[in-house]
Amino acid sequence: MAVCEVCFRHCDIEEGKFGFCKARTCKDGKVVAYNYGLISSLALDPIEKKPLRRFYPGSNIISVGSFGCNLHCPFCQNYEISWSREAELMARRAERISPEELVMIASRYKEKGNIGIAYTYNEPLIGYEFVRDCAKLVHEAGMKNVLVSNGMVELKILKEIIPYIDAMNIDLKGFTDEYYAKLLKGNRKQVMAFIEEAVKHCHVELTNLIIPDENDSEEEMRRLSGWIASLDRSIPLHISRFFPCFHMTDKDPTDVEHIYKLAEIAREQLEFVYTGNC
Ligand code: SF4
Repeated sequence: MAVCEVCFRHCDIEEGKFGFCKARTCKDGKVVAYNYGLISSLALDPIEKKPLRRFYPGSNIISVGSFGCNLHCPFCQNYEISWSREAELMARRAERISPEELVMIASRYKEKGNIGIAYTYNEPLIGYEFVRDCAKLVHEAGMKNVLVSNGMVELKILKEIIPYIDAMNIDLKGFTDEYYAKLLKGNRKQVMAFIEEAVKHCHVELTNLIIPDENDSEEEMRRLSGWIASLDRSIPLHISRFFPCFHMTDKDPTDVEHIYKLAEIAREQLEFVYTGNC
């Protein structure tokens, strides 16, 4: 039995069993990343798809995902690799790739406009050891590292990887503790602390997915954008539209006009506000 100290949950993991995220296990009395090098998806994507709008616009980036997540959002678009039963089964069958092999693939795509590697699709930091090992090699190869994260890990994990990360998109999924805790099974304060620290070290853009009747009030957007502005008015914010998915199919997609209205409110305090999925 060992305690995982990667995120606020601090799972007690028995030998051979998994933590809440299903990515970390206990081996010989120590917590290790079971998903180290396990690849669920690999694609060359435009950087704008991460989404990053103010970091090497027009470039492409090799985007890599693994399995597992330490949030359980009922509307997850990537549930097949994050926290469904399918994700667990796929992870058992997936092949492992070494950091060296992955960086070799990324280098081969330089001529197609690739600037480096984006760690994305599932939550990369529940397997931060793989991110760290790849990111070091990516820098040695003269390329960039991008992290797309829910930001819900302890600051000591952020400090271990931040020297190698050039840009991040971090989800700030809402601005009440209740929304994070009840709907997402997460911890808003941990995410806020992560964002506060990350913006001191690398380029950061934030994403807020708007779910009808859950986190979509004008007042919540005023508080969320005000808090971001208190860190730095020039942090880009992506306000994104929800579509029914996974365990949340009883709601309509977010009204496009409402997304535009929330973007207007955010622009009162922030310099760069973008709308997504509209
Ligand atoms: S990273 Fe995973 S195993 Fe570790 S505390 Fe968080 S949910 Fe538990």
